[in-house]
Amino acid sequence: SPFSFACNTLLLQKRIRENMEKMRIEEVQSTTKKQRVATHTHIKGLGLEASGRALPFASGFVGQAEAREACGLVVDMIRQKKMAGRALLLAGPPGTGKTALALGISQELGTKVPFCPMVGSEVYSSEVKKTEVLMENFRRAIGLRIKENKEVYEGEVTELSPEETESVTGGYGKSISHVIIGLKTVKGTKQLKLDPTIYDALIKEKVAVGDVIYIEANSGAVKRVGRSDAFATEFDLEAEEYVPLPKGEVHKKKEIVQDVTLHDLDAANARPQGGQDILSLMGQMMKPRKTEITDKLRQEINKVVNRYIDEGVAELVPGVLFIDEVHMLDMECFSYLNRALESSLSPIVIFATNRGICNVRGTDMTSPHGIPVDLLDRLVIIRTQTYGPAEMIQILAIRAQVEELVVDEESLAFLGEIGQRTSLRHAVQLLSPASVVSKMNGRDSICKGDLDEVCSLYLDAKSSARLLQEQQDKYIS
Ligand code: ATP
Repeated sequence: SPFSFACNTLLLQKRIRENMEKMRIEEVQSTTKKQRVATHTHIKGLGLEASGRALPFASGFVGQAEAREACGLVVDMIRQKKMAGRALLLAGPPGTGKTALALGISQELGTKVPFCPMVGSEVYSSEVKKTEVLMENFRRAIGLRIKENKEVYEGEVTELSPEETESVTGGYGKSISHVIIGLKTVKGTKQLKLDPTIYDALIKEKVAVGDVIYIEANSGAVKRVGRSDAFATEFDLEAEEYVPLPKGEVHKKKEIVQDVTLHDLDAANARPQGGQDILSLMGQMMKPRKTEITDKLRQEINKVVNRYIDEGVAELVPGVLFIDEVHMLDMECFSYLNRALESSLSPIVIFATNRGICNVRGTDMTSPHGIPVDLLDRLVIIRTQTYGPAEMIQILAIRAQVEELVVDEESLAFLGEIGQRTSLRHAVQLLSPASVVSKMNGRDSICKGDLDEVCSLYLDAKSSARLLQEQQDKYIS
């Protein structure tokens, strides 16, 4: 019977392996919110000299020199671990690069540092608690770098004596969820635990005692098994990373690094909501399946993560949580944030607002930026300034280049004027429709006429507000 394959041991990393299997690290999908950073793809850092001074144009950044330099100091403080329990607030008018600065900070901290942007109003959902939304975003901003060792073994399948099976399975015999296979190598017999799916593959391949097979393991956990020929080509055993060693030894260890966030792990391990009965299955057909991330699951994930860290298999990579429109949060959220900032598992939190003194949402208490004073006390505040025409034109030129659009100089200057009158964000947003109009007119480059046309089609926030005021009687109030 295939169950009687012989064995020896690879128990060294047993604990890690079991946890890894439970976590299903390899299947973890990234849940990064890509769309919100799409308009900032040109930002590659803060563009500072080694002395900390802002270069006029570097890393995709133009102008906003003081704020960039102040952000550079914050990066130094984070590196020196002097930001613990504190957070940063970027305060300034719309379209002055607050999101871009927050992204720049995360990039200065490292290319693999997670950046999670959210808007304050996101916490108001009819289905999810406010603190739950905040918690999820906190976990999206904490990265985990997992290092795994990939190994390839080669050996001959041997048969196990009943005693050996007994000693390996601890008396549970075949009933345990993993199957044991013995692999005779020049250094003795290796004992490898197989996942049932891999075991099935073995049976399908009709592997028998005496066959030479290859086994690929990941930090001790068997991932793939194959007969020599097929496996050799599939895994390219001749390739540099698998330098062939004498038969039976580990062919080559290859370190694989995987970057995930705590939320990725939560999501990958969450169970679909609802039971398996016919009613809930029908319900799931009507509504897309939702997974439930419970507190218990998060605690379990934290335990495993802490163990990985203790065992040197993984390291934490605290990222940046960017909360735009922080004045949209209420007292419940602020008190949650106060507590969360104290946690040892906290990312760098950057708030942004374009509000001055206003009410803290849901109360009649006024406060600078609508933030309660106890939280304000913890904040380092950086102001952003509106751009002059030259800077605005330069930023628009960068965006046009990134979006692979050709805009002549006259049109860029005109777009800059529009930006000065309305906002930088509005001017940036006109680029795409203008390119569609230029194509419809049979041109490859955007000209002033195209911009005129899209300007007459779309209103900016200020003109829309003016129009509402002028035509108040025509609207229901
Ligand atoms: P809001 O207050 O409305 O949230 P914001 O202050 O966050 O706006 P951004 O969205 O960061 O402003 O800026 C608008 C656009 O201009 C983005 O595409 C951004 O990347 C770009 N941008 C802003 N400032 C700069 C800058 N100094 N250099 C280069 N690009 C910039």
